[in-house]
Amino acid sequence: MLLQLMKKREGAYTVERKRRTEHKPTEEASVPEYLIYPLSMHIGAPAKPVVEKGDYVKIGTLIAEKEGFISANVYASISGQVKEISDQPTMNGKGPCIVIKNDYQDVYEAPLLSEGEELTVDQKKSLIEQAGVVGMGGATFPTSVKLSPPPEKSIDTLIINGAECEPYSTSDHRLMVEYAEQLIEGIRVLHEVLPVTKTYIAIESNTHESVAVMKAAIEDVDHIEIKELETIYPQGSEKSLIKNLTGREVPPGGLPADVHTLVTNVATTFAIYEAVRLGRPLTKRITTITGEPIKEPKNLWVRIGTPIQHLIEECQGFQSKTGKMIHGGPMMGKPLTSGQVPITKGSSVITFLEKEEAVRSERTPCIQCAECLHVCPVSLQPILISNAYENGDIDQAEKLGAMDCIDCGNCSYICPSKIPLLDNIRSAKSEIKARKEDN
Ligand code: SF4
Ligand code: SF4
Repeated sequence: MLLQLMKKREGAYTVERKRRTEHKPTEEASVPEYLIYPLSMHIGAPAKPVVEKGDYVKIGTLIAEKEGFISANVYASISGQVKEISDQPTMNGKGPCIVIKNDYQDVYEAPLLSEGEELTVDQKKSLIEQAGVVGMGGATFPTSVKLSPPPEKSIDTLIINGAECEPYSTSDHRLMVEYAEQLIEGIRVLHEVLPVTKTYIAIESNTHESVAVMKAAIEDVDHIEIKELETIYPQGSEKSLIKNLTGREVPPGGLPADVHTLVTNVATTFAIYEAVRLGRPLTKRITTITGEPIKEPKNLWVRIGTPIQHLIEECQGFQSKTGKMIHGGPMMGKPLTSGQVPITKGSSVITFLEKEEAVRSERTPCIQCAECLHVCPVSLQPILISNAYENGDIDQAEKLGAMDCIDCGNCSYICPSKIPLLDNIRSAKSEIKARKEDN
C-alpha cells in the first residue's frame, strides 16, 4: 500500500495527498442530462417521494419528504421532468431513486422564506429541517435532530469541524478559504438557536491558507476561537475533536450532546447559513474529485444527484489506470463499482487510487504486535473485536465496544498482517444494529 501511515499513539500521521487540489479554486461543474436522487442519502428512514413520473420540477422543488424523526427532505437540483422512480446504483448498493431529466432552463422555486422575514428560534430550526440539512462531512445525520437535544443535554459548546483529515480531501479547505463570511454567518445562526457560550473552529495546522482566512474572518466576533490541530488522522472525528478541544469525553456508546457539545462540519454550517439566511434548500455542495489517476483533479460545486462519471469527464478523464474508486477518502471511504453512483449530500470527496495503491496484500496470521491497539483513537482492541466477529460471537464484539468504533480505518491500514479489521468491525456493527432493530 503506497499510502503509508506513520504511527503514533491515538492516531496516525498520513501521507498527505492534498497538493493537487488544495490551491485550486472551486469551479461550477456542468450539469448532465439526467440526475439521480437516492431516497436514502442520510442516516435514518428513507425519504418518501412526493412527485410522480412525468411531473415538472424546478430547482428547489421538494421531491421526497422526510419520513419520521430521523430522516431528511430531498430537493431537485435542476429543473425538468421526473423520468422515473426506480432502483439505481448508489453508494450503498442499488436503492430507490428519483431520476430527473434536465430541461437546461435552471428555473428556481421561490425560497423557503420571504425577504426580510423575522424568524423565531423554532422557525430557524424548522428551516434547517425543511431545507434537508444533514452532516455533510460524511456522517449525514439530520442536523435538526442535533439542534434539539433534551433539556438535560443542552449545548454550551460548538465545534465547527474544518479538520479535513482524509489525505486527499480539500473541499472543506476551499470552502473556508472562499466562503469564510458565509461560514461565520452560519455560526451566528447556530448561536441564535443554541445557548452556546464557546465556539471553536478546528482546522489542521498544515492548511495555512484556511487558518489565515478564518482568523481574519473572526476578528470582530466574540466567543469564537480557531484551534489549529496537528495533522494526525483521524483528527476530524467528533469524539477526538471534543476530547482534544474541550477535554470532555463522550461516554462509550454516547453522543456529543451527552457532554453538552455540538460538532458540525464546515459544509453543514454553510448549508445552515443558506437555509436560514437565504431560504435555500440543500441542492449542491463542493466535492473534490481527485487521486493520481485523475488527469485534472478539481474542487467542484456539484448539483446533488450528478453521476460521478460526469465529473470524471469534467476532470478530463484518467491519466493512468484506476485500481479503485472510493466515495470518501481511502481511510474511511466506501469503494464504488459504478460511475453511475450520484453525488449525495455527504460526498465531500471522490478518490481514485492507482492499481498499486489499491492492491490489498494477502492476509497472514496476527503477529500480536498490538499496533492496531496503539493507533485506535477511541482506545478499542480492534483485533479482539475482529476475532469475536469472525467467531460469530456478536455479543462479545458488542461487549468489546464495537459500536464505539468511529470507522477511521487506522487499524486496518497499520496492520502488518493485512487483517481486514475495519471490514470485520463494520460487519459486527451492522449485525448488532440489525439485532437491536429486530427486538
Ligand atoms: S477500531 Fe475503529 S476506531 Fe479503532 S482504529 Fe479501528 S476503525 Fe478506527
Ligand atoms: S491484528 Fe494486525 S496490528 Fe493488530 S496485533 Fe495483529 S498483526 Fe498487529
